[in-house]
Parts: sequence; C-alpha cells; structure tokens
Amino acid sequence: MGLIKLYAGRDGMDAHHLRVQLEQIGITAVVLGETLGSGRGDLPMTQETLPGVFVNKEDLKPALAFVRDYVSQQSAATRQDTPAWTCSGCGEQIEGQFDFCWQCETPRPNHER
Ligand SMILES: [Zn+2]
Repeated sequence: MGLIKLYAGRDGMDAHHLRVQLEQIGITAVVLGETLGSGRGDLPMTQETLPGVFVNKEDLKPALAFVRDYVSQQSAATRQDTPAWTCSGCGEQIEGQFDFCWQCETPRPNHER
C-alpha cells in the first residue's frame, strides 16, 4: 500500500490530533517523522523535519476534503510558518501544510525535484 503525506503538523500533538479525527471518520492515518526530535536542534524546521500525517493513497481524496476544513479552523496559527501555494493545475490557493491540491490532486510544484 502506498502512503502519501497529507499534512505537516506544527508538532506531534497537532499531527496526532488530526490522525485521531481522521480515524473517527474511517480513514486510516499514521504519524511519521516525529522521532527526528532528538536531532532537531541542529536542523532547520522544515516540512521534512516536522511530524507528518500520512494516509493511504486511495483515501487521499476524502482525507483532503476533511483536512481542508480542519486547516481552515487552525490556519490562523499555522499560516505564518507554511506559506500558501497556488496549484499549477487549477489555480486554487492551497494552504502550506498540503503537498497536494485538494481540488485536482496536483502535487506542490517545488516538491518534485
Ligand atoms: Zn489543483
């Protein structure tokens, strides 16, 4: 099964909070990346070092729809750390926590390197 990163949490609590909510609507989710904590003092805080919430590829669409609402409640606190980006596929403004467009699932442009 293929896991896809759905969301980058501000911290482990944020990531687990979302994971629990996804599981309540029947979407299996896992939190990966938080074990990097011990070395974090030397690392810049980037999307790669923050704990991420991953879902199965086939659950991406319903999970994105759910997280869009979740983020709109949280975005006041997170917007400054993760700038929004514009989807090259449909022109939608996407919150910075996402690696995929929630409309058409186009990946974030600078993610493909
Ligand atoms: Zn799009």
